[in-house]
Amino acid sequence: MSLTLLNNIQQLPPDALFGIKQRYTQDSRANKVDLGIGAYRDDKGKPWVLPSVRSAEKLIHEDPNYNHEYLGINGLPELSSAAAKIVFGEDSKALQQGRIASVQSLSGTGALHIAAKFISSFLPGRSLYISEPTWANHNAIFKSQGVQTATYPYWQASTKTLDMEGFLKTIKDAPTGSVILLHACAHNPTGLDPTQDQWSDIIDAVASKDHIVLFDSAYQGFASGDLDRDAYAIRLGVEKLAGVSPIFVCQSFAKNVGMYGERAGCFHLVLPEQENIDTAKVKSAITSQLSSLIRSEVSNPPAYGAKIVAKILNSPELTKQWHQDMITMSSRITEMRHELRDRLVAQGTPGTWDHIVEQCGMFSYTGLSPEMVKRLETQHAVYLVSSGRASIAGLNHGNIEHVAKAIDEVVRHFTGNSKF
Ligand code: PMP
Repeated sequence: MSLTLLNNIQQLPPDALFGIKQRYTQDSRANKVDLGIGAYRDDKGKPWVLPSVRSAEKLIHEDPNYNHEYLGINGLPELSSAAAKIVFGEDSKALQQGRIASVQSLSGTGALHIAAKFISSFLPGRSLYISEPTWANHNAIFKSQGVQTATYPYWQASTKTLDMEGFLKTIKDAPTGSVILLHACAHNPTGLDPTQDQWSDIIDAVASKDHIVLFDSAYQGFASGDLDRDAYAIRLGVEKLAGVSPIFVCQSFAKNVGMYGERAGCFHLVLPEQENIDTAKVKSAITSQLSSLIRSEVSNPPAYGAKIVAKILNSPELTKQWHQDMITMSSRITEMRHELRDRLVAQGTPGTWDHIVEQCGMFSYTGLSPEMVKRLETQHAVYLVSSGRASIAGLNHGNIEHVAKAIDEVVRHFTGNSKF
C-alpha cells in the first residue's frame, strides 16, 4: 500500500519565469539576450555588487564580534527600525506616535507571505484585490493561505495607459473593508505608475470604503533613484488613512540593495490613530502574533543580508554611497529605455514606443503579443515573458542594436507595416 502512495502525484509545468531562464541558459547562440527575470545587470550584462554592499561586507567581516548566531524571531532590530524610516520618512508622525509594528521578513515574498497569513488569521473572509496584470506570485502567495483574491483593472492595452476609471470603480464597488494591494512604485509588470494626483484619488476611494491597503514596496529607490520620491504613495496613504484603517507594507531589499539571494526585507503594519485606544497595547499584541507566525514558519529570519542592509542604513557614509548606487542603477535603466525607444522610432518600427520611456523601474510592458515574443525567442534569441514584459535591466550597449532590430522584424512579420 505505502509503496504506491506517491505514484500519482501530478507533474507541474516549470515556473514560467524560471522556465525562460532555463531555455536561455541552454541556448548556444552567441547573441542571446535575457530580458526575462527582473535582476539588475551592468552595461556588460553582469550582476552588480553595489559598492555600498562591498564596503558594508568588509566592515562586517572586520568586526571582532562577527559571528553566525541566530537572530531573534523578529529579526535584526537595527534593520527593521532603519527600514521603517526609509519607507515612512525620518519625520513620520506614525513612527513618532509608535503606531508602526515592524518585523524582518524573507525579502518581499516573505513579507507578502506574512501579510497573507495575517489576513487569513485576523481578517478572515475579506477579499484581496490585486491589479490586472500583476506580479504572477501575488496570486499564488495569497491563495496558498486561503485568502480569496479578486482583481482591479490597471493596464489599458489599447492606449498603453492606466485604466483609472475601471480601477476607481472596482475600489468603490468592492465590499467595505476589503484589502487592496497597491504597488508602491515601479508597477510589475507594466512599469506604469499612477501620477501624484491619481494616487490621491486612489487613496480617497480606498478611504471612502474603509478598505485596508497593502503596499508592495519592492523597488523603492530603484525606480527613480530617490527613496522619498518612490515612497510618495505609501506616505500619502499613511497620512490620508490615519483616521480610517490600518496599512500593511511589504518591503524588499532585493532590488534597491542588489541583495536578491540574501532575502532581506521587512513587514510593517501601521495602526490607525484612534481615540481611547491603548495603541501600545494593540501594537504589542500584534507583534506577539507576528512572532508566533514567524516562529512556526522560519523560526528566525536569515542574518547575513540583514546585517549588510542594516550596516548601510545605519552608517551615514554608506547610506550616501548607497544613494549614489541607486542613481547608478536607475539612470542606466532610464538611458536604455530612451535608447530602445529612439532606435525603434528611427527604424520606423510600426507602432508607438513612447510608453517605453514613460514607464519606470525594472520592466517595460512593451505591448508585444505572445506570438511576437515567441518569435523573438526562436528567431532572434531574445527572451522575455509571453505577456510582452521586458526587463530593461537586461539591455546594454552591447545588445541593444540586436534587440531593436529583432523587435522590428517580429512586429513587421505579424503586422506587415500597419500599426499594432
Ligand atoms: N513584489 C513585486 C512586485 C516584485 O516584483 C517582487 C520581485 N520580483 C517581489 C515582490 C518580491 O521579491 P523578493 O522576494 O525577491 O524580495
